[in-house]
Amino acid sequence: MSLNQELIGGRMGLVTEQGEKGVGPGKIMESLNRKKYVYFFGAGKADGKADMKNLLGGKGANLAEMTNLGIPVPPGFTITTKVCTLYYGNDRNYPKELQKQMEAALGRVEKIMGKRFGDPGNPLLVSVRSGARSSMPGMMETVLNVGLTTKTIPGLIKRTNNERFVYDAYRRLLMMYSDVVMEKAAGIEPDDGEGIRQKLEHAMERLKKEKGYSNDTDLAADDLKILCRDFRVIIKLALKKEFPDDPHEQLWGGIGAVFQSWMGKRAVSYRRIEKIPEAWGTAVNVQSMVFGNTGETSATGVAFTRNPATGENMFFGEWLPNAQGEDVVAGIRTPNPVNKAGKTEDTKHLHSLDEAMPKLYRQLFVIQKKLERHYRDMQDIEFTVEDGRLWMLQTRVGKRNGQAAIRMAVEMAKEKLITKQMAVLRVRPDQIDELLHPAVAPAAEKGAAELAKGLPAGPGGAVGKVAFTADDAEKWSKRGEKVILVRNETSPEDVHGMHAAQAILTAKGGMTSHAALVARGWGKCCIVGCSDLDIDLPRKELRVNGKVLREGDWITLNGTKGRVYEGKLDLLPADPEHNAWYRELMIWADKFRTLKVRTNADTPYDATIARSFGAEGIGLCRTEHMFFGPDRIKAVREMILSDTVEDREKALAKLLPFQKGDFVGIFKAMAGLPVTIRLLDPPLHEFLPHTDEELRELAGEMGAPFEQLNAKNKSLHELNPMLGHRGCRLGITYPEIYEMQVQAIMEAACELVKEKVKVIPEIMIPLVGHVRELEIMRNLTVKIAEAVQKEYKVKVPYTVGTMIELPRACVTSDEIAYHADFYSFGTNDLTQTVYGLSRDDAGRFLPFYVEGGILKDDPFVSIDREGVGIFMRIAAEKGRKIKKDLKIGICGEHGGEPESVEFCHQIGLNYVSCSPYRVPIARFAAARAAMKELK
Ligand code: ADP
Ligand code: MG
Ligand code: MG
Repeated sequence: MSLNQELIGGRMGLVTEQGEKGVGPGKIMESLNRKKYVYFFGAGKADGKADMKNLLGGKGANLAEMTNLGIPVPPGFTITTKVCTLYYGNDRNYPKELQKQMEAALGRVEKIMGKRFGDPGNPLLVSVRSGARSSMPGMMETVLNVGLTTKTIPGLIKRTNNERFVYDAYRRLLMMYSDVVMEKAAGIEPDDGEGIRQKLEHAMERLKKEKGYSNDTDLAADDLKILCRDFRVIIKLALKKEFPDDPHEQLWGGIGAVFQSWMGKRAVSYRRIEKIPEAWGTAVNVQSMVFGNTGETSATGVAFTRNPATGENMFFGEWLPNAQGEDVVAGIRTPNPVNKAGKTEDTKHLHSLDEAMPKLYRQLFVIQKKLERHYRDMQDIEFTVEDGRLWMLQTRVGKRNGQAAIRMAVEMAKEKLITKQMAVLRVRPDQIDELLHPAVAPAAEKGAAELAKGLPAGPGGAVGKVAFTADDAEKWSKRGEKVILVRNETSPEDVHGMHAAQAILTAKGGMTSHAALVARGWGKCCIVGCSDLDIDLPRKELRVNGKVLREGDWITLNGTKGRVYEGKLDLLPADPEHNAWYRELMIWADKFRTLKVRTNADTPYDATIARSFGAEGIGLCRTEHMFFGPDRIKAVREMILSDTVEDREKALAKLLPFQKGDFVGIFKAMAGLPVTIRLLDPPLHEFLPHTDEELRELAGEMGAPFEQLNAKNKSLHELNPMLGHRGCRLGITYPEIYEMQVQAIMEAACELVKEKVKVIPEIMIPLVGHVRELEIMRNLTVKIAEAVQKEYKVKVPYTVGTMIELPRACVTSDEIAYHADFYSFGTNDLTQTVYGLSRDDAGRFLPFYVEGGILKDDPFVSIDREGVGIFMRIAAEKGRKIKKDLKIGICGEHGGEPESVEFCHQIGLNYVSCSPYRVPIARFAAARAAMKELK
């Protein structure tokens, strides 16, 4: 192979270091580009494109893509994520090439705009915007109007002939820059309410009050001029530093702050929740400013190409006249709807954009359609109108809740915008989960005391105690309490509390506010813009409609309708089956799925629910739960405490009809589907009497001396019961127990076969570690099963298998398989034994491991692929070497966790089994796993 072939051919179609598709002479390009740190965009041409998100961040890549699409985007450039990585890798120093490249790019922007950065006569202003690979709402900071200084202000005033606008822009720069660059990025952590931003906001509120203004827009040029002067004094006093009056110092300060904020506390905490690797880094975008705050012909807005709360195919958004950037998101003013169709009861009096600026609205409408077509997904867009001219400032795939995700995916597939496969891949399993979440019971809601109305930002119902700070919400929720976080508005500082809360309620903000965005991303119930709430944070009180609520009081939210109620209302379980889009998507998903999904159910009731959720059998029916009924436990205790086989058999005979009845019920509920029944598993002492009184009563009934029973009871005590006398070890030492259970199973089955009910019992022997254990238990099972069939004169298609839950069973699977018709991984015990980790005691330290990043996930939640998973793989491979078609499943709760389901698919299991309510998620996760493999 020639060098060239190696360079070119070898990289064809491969994914390069940055994850982009290497096209053509990838490596050559790459080496040329290795030191390219700055990517320009503007005037219809961009260095980057959409699939370069890893290098340019999401924002930068999409700004480039929009530019290339001929959509009006203010020119600018992106400093790559690589610079962020190099910066942190090199003692917080930039690569030396950066400055030159940046100056060159800035020069191109200046040329296009016909202005110069720092030019007193005709100054260019820029924004400095962060942009990680995947959007981290509000986590990273943006500074607008960079370049305004005492030297450039007069020039801009002269140019625009609008003094008010210039000072408005300057006061915003002062606010954002002092907050983001001088305080946060510098690592200063003021007390709650003491931040520079709040101080400046107070000063502004004070001035407004003095002047009797109610809106920011009421502030006149002279007011703003004074305000800016005051701001600079306050900044100097609070931060002991002069506000930088040099445009380049501002610019570099802004860039540095973006990189600093990547390692800031809030960003780190968000990354942990969202599992975003630190190594990704963030990009920085420097972009020529366009102004939505020059007057009534200017505006700014945020919109979605479809409704992110319902999924409806309708252009949906909010805008504000004479405003800049963050005003819409920050919820300072209640924004107007972009179109008439988007008006609600609460916003019907407001001017929509299609009414106020019809021509411009049409242009925006065409652009959003184009963007959705181009990206084939719902877009979340930002726009600004400067003196009647439309500019697009951002596009990204919009966050949505589960309901909306499902509806959009199905409708887009029907519109042929995407394929059915894409539709299934686009919906995350946890979004399916959301549909399975509760809602406020309509009956309870009817009579309830409504406290207030707000915007329905995240659907579903939630009940919880009022908490006013994110820290409280987190603390209480850690104590196991249900909390609703109530704030004026949320900010990135609150994300940990928002995550811990059942729901979020804010007094301010619109459908695109921080709270709404974050809640939607997490599928949380959320109400925003609930303006009747009067929150008194210092006193931890909430006054609303003449009522006073204190922290810890119960409230209920209906996030679907935006209603807040006093007290604790009933919640109804979700009803996904009445959602046509859900049903359709699940049908598509099931077509792609190869893994079967069963359920863990011990009662006919659970079995029936699971069946309605699409369970294809029972993967685990625990017989011990049947031992606990008040009428049964006595017979169980009698059996355990009996000294002779005969006495034991007598007690077991009492249990037999109960067990049989249970199996009849379950077999009927699952008619035609396989039912795996596990023979008795837990250590016997779990069933023993706990008090002398109980023991005395039992002694009376059994006609045995109390002392004797007491001694026996004590003798059964084990130091380490989970590794003790349990599972098949019980069957080996007390074969009559398993015999009775098999008898009950088979009698139930035979009776139903006679009634023409199709039963498929799979009898499962737990905790096998040595092949001989299974061999003996299998013989016992077969002996009884054959005898019962003979007696009833019918045949039952039964099988005998084992749970694989000990490392020894995994590595000797090539012996065990001889005696097993099927395997089922008990991944809970397997995790305990592979890890030497007791789940019941792990609570003391495991959370520390997960939070500290020592472990990525709790191994009891998501299968530990590298450890436990290897044992599973070995067991499956060795088992199938002996029996090619050995049926293998998993019945630990991992079977309902999407990542684990994917793993089970990858190692070739036949089915997963999980609790009834997780069946739909498992079905969906199984479909995605199958499709990912195809891709
Ligand atoms: P975020 O990631 O928090 O959305 P952005 O970088 O998108 O932050 O910026 C915050 C706000 O400022 C947005 O409303 C955005 O549209 C606006 N903005 C950013 N850059 C500019 C610019 N060059 N001109 C006008 N507005 C801008
Ligand atoms: Mg921001
Ligand atoms: Mg943005």
